[in-house]
Amino acid sequence: MTGVAFMLGGRTFRHGVHPAEHKEATRSRPIERMPFVDEYWLPLAQHIGAPSKASVSPGQKVQRGEVIAEAGGFVSTFLHAPVTGTVKAIELRPHPSGKQLQTIVIATDAFASQKITTLERPAQDADAATKAAFIQRGGLVGMGGAAFPTHVKLQVPKGKTVSFVVLNGCECEPYLTCDHRVMVEQAEQVMRGLDLILELTLAKRGAVGVELNKPDAIEALRQAIGTRPVEVVGLTVKYPQGAEKMLIDALSSREVPSGGLPLDLEIVVQNVGTAAVLAGLFDHGIPLIERAVTVTGPGIRRPANVMVPIGTPVRQVIEHCGGLLPSAGLVVLGGPMMGMAQKSLDVPVTKGTSGILVLDQSTKTVSEEPCIRCGRCLEACPMFLNPSRLAQLARAELHDELAALHVMDCFECASCSFSCPSHIPLVQLIRVGKALVRQKGSSQ
Ligand code: SF4
Ligand code: SF4
Repeated sequence: MTGVAFMLGGRTFRHGVHPAEHKEATRSRPIERMPFVDEYWLPLAQHIGAPSKASVSPGQKVQRGEVIAEAGGFVSTFLHAPVTGTVKAIELRPHPSGKQLQTIVIATDAFASQKITTLERPAQDADAATKAAFIQRGGLVGMGGAAFPTHVKLQVPKGKTVSFVVLNGCECEPYLTCDHRVMVEQAEQVMRGLDLILELTLAKRGAVGVELNKPDAIEALRQAIGTRPVEVVGLTVKYPQGAEKMLIDALSSREVPSGGLPLDLEIVVQNVGTAAVLAGLFDHGIPLIERAVTVTGPGIRRPANVMVPIGTPVRQVIEHCGGLLPSAGLVVLGGPMMGMAQKSLDVPVTKGTSGILVLDQSTKTVSEEPCIRCGRCLEACPMFLNPSRLAQLARAELHDELAALHVMDCFECASCSFSCPSHIPLVQLIRVGKALVRQKGSSQ
């Protein structure tokens, strides 16, 4: 242990905001299984890093669970068929990011058994590199939304040590409840996944951070702890409590340095959903071919938590949930704070899709007013940035000044935009500012 203290109940970070939770429609709904549909769309880019490389060709028959694309580099991962069927095409298709990206299209074999082709598992005493390669082969990425390849995070670089593993069960985005349900329904698998992470990183202790609005999840996880050197810690309900740096602050009262990583504090953070999938991979050889998704919002007929094969068209998940109500408006993939608004429903669920949120038409777009210098955005920012000033600098395209004010520390949580009474699109402007710094560099 290197100064990482365990803190009990109600811990949190400084700043942040309190958006309405809106979780009541789905928090008690068990995860239901989505039936197979006719076609699946698997973009080669659905994680941070290099896109995967297709290893199948049009016309080829594939089994559910079989590798269909290999990693395109170290920071990349494998992709598997979510269904038994035939590769129909590999072509440009709409992606949730708004771009057209290379996608493997699989037509389902309606008469196949859909038994999963499992991966050959490494021996229990295999070395860390072999196990990391297995995780990459299993296609695992962080399932909290960022979709960072899991094997990269779990491979501790030479000269570094991990003393503490944190599982993120906060699910602080309004509306979303899929992690909540995973913790309630798969508490044993989550703990088993934590065991594996402790073993891989050689960390001695772990904690699961869960917001206090999920008492049943906290209870289920505590029941599953057994004799493990692990604690389940209830955290204050506040956004963005589930952001990596805020979670570490809440659990250890330590700050990840600007531009640094949790590893600098000997900490590794993983999402609870990722831990559950990791357990399935090591115990049964099951790759990441499906995930829990919350389908909710005032514009959906039957809100639900659904286990969805990766690649399922969003339109069909919505149909499975009774379809859109006449009042339906904007559709967002993810939560309302950090999710991506969609122009079309003809995009697939990817490994990072935690929610399909359908807002209604009463969610008005309000017009921007001048800044009244109220300072609310400063009080909201968990990174202690000056969002109002950063937005001004972004409008003026002053990249050196943006870099000097640490614009790159912004992780786009949107707390500033949420708190602004003048409805200034702060996070959008700051995003532009970050792109400017990336593109032009700076003399800082
Ligand atoms: S500046 Fe960035 S990190 Fe700070 S509140 Fe706004 S979006 Fe969040
Ligand atoms: S919250 Fe909005 S109005 Fe207030 S200081 Fe920040 S940008 Fe200006």
